[in-house]
Amino acid sequence: MTDLRALSLFNTLTRRVEPVAPLVPGEITIYNCGPTIYNYVHIGNLRTFLFQDLLRRTFEAAGYRVRSCMNLTDVDDKIIRDSQKDLPAGAENDARLRTMRAFTDTYEQAFLEDMDALRVVRPTVMPRATDYLAQMIGLIETLERRGLAYRRDGSVYFRVGDLPNYGCLSRIDRSGMQPGASVDADEYDRESASDFVLWKGTRDGEPWWDSPWGRGRPGWHIECSAMALDVFGPRLDIHTGGVDLVFPHHENEIAQSEGALGRAWVNYWVHGEFLMVEGEKMSKSLGNFFTLRDLVAKGFDPIAFRFAIQSNHYRKLYNFSFDGLRAARTTLDRLRTFRGRMEEEPGVPREGAPRSAVDPRSRVAQAREEFWRAMADDLNTPEALAAILTLVTDINARDDDRPLTRGERDEVVALLDEADRIFAAWPRQAHETPDAEIEALILARRQAKAARNWAEADRLRDELKAMGIVLEDRKDGTVRWKRLISS
Ligand SMILES: [Zn+2]
Repeated sequence: MTDLRALSLFNTLTRRVEPVAPLVPGEITIYNCGPTIYNYVHIGNLRTFLFQDLLRRTFEAAGYRVRSCMNLTDVDDKIIRDSQKDLPAGAENDARLRTMRAFTDTYEQAFLEDMDALRVVRPTVMPRATDYLAQMIGLIETLERRGLAYRRDGSVYFRVGDLPNYGCLSRIDRSGMQPGASVDADEYDRESASDFVLWKGTRDGEPWWDSPWGRGRPGWHIECSAMALDVFGPRLDIHTGGVDLVFPHHENEIAQSEGALGRAWVNYWVHGEFLMVEGEKMSKSLGNFFTLRDLVAKGFDPIAFRFAIQSNHYRKLYNFSFDGLRAARTTLDRLRTFRGRMEEEPGVPREGAPRSAVDPRSRVAQAREEFWRAMADDLNTPEALAAILTLVTDINARDDDRPLTRGERDEVVALLDEADRIFAAWPRQAHETPDAEIEALILARRQAKAARNWAEADRLRDELKAMGIVLEDRKDGTVRWKRLISS
């Protein structure tokens, strides 16, 4: 295993950049608030998921073992509203649950396709909320036993009361909170801070589950506490989400989890900033609302979008524009072209006295140090990329002047690979051999076998194997072949 690199992150709890000290040395546990799967996620949501991917990949590239969880919220106010609207008023509960599941299945699939297109590494576990009803009910029962929950009209609420810790994350002003006032909605603003719902008694036209409090369904906030506690146990290194989740969602998660545990739960709360579109808040009514599918339909590569997002610091407001996306693509092309050049064999030196004094090996070592210094400092991707891009300029000039040796080129490529474990935007290109060339080698092998020249036939098989081609000899004497995907 490589040596661990120390990393620092901005912790919303303390409002400071802090060195990350994992609970278990060399290991990091991360819980990511995932999507509510009720439509195609927009590019603002995608920015959050790309930030979570950046975090995970950076820890892995820095030598840590990462266990990550991203939940899928498959029951909440919006999902019920949108999934149930076409059902008749008297529909049976089974039909309501089935319809909701089919509705969320569709958008889960779409979400996973977007994640794959953006090369987001799949989290270690991706639990769906409705598979955790028993854990949610158990957690609410614990809160009741501890005097932190109360029943009213078939629902159960969390008693914020004079809980000393409430507001530790969002730093809300509690002076306006009315004792006993409660809110049923999953999402609400700071001004409505009050007791919040844990279990909602069923209403007409909604799917429900049985519980000790009668028929109903969980509130949104209890879902994440229950899943995070079930997956990771009582201690967690890092909890993430978009900044819009700080209040009320994460504040309420802390109240629930720490209320049930009776002690501190998460060490680092890390939040990704919003995205604006051409200087304005994204909204359907302004016509500036985009999904990844919209960008692809306009001819953009999802990886150019990934690169545009990752080029910006995750805690800075990002102003998305199509000009910015085109500029990102140009920079990406430059990196990929450079990589191609370094993979090729050295060219011919320029005539006359050398002009570049760059020593490739020490220049690569310097860029690596700058890259990691930036990434370790709260994932400063703009500076990390600047380190790589100035390396490109210097090495190109040196290679024009006195071509790098094969060994020096390999060192440059090794750094590009190391950085690409995080950026996932300039991987080694699969040099595909044309089909005709493969067919010709297969034919030559058949002729060698017909001539009982087994050594030559085996040599040809090995040559094909080295090209990533596997052969399957069939009983009728024909040969099938397929490529192994190397990237
Ligand atoms: Zn959550």
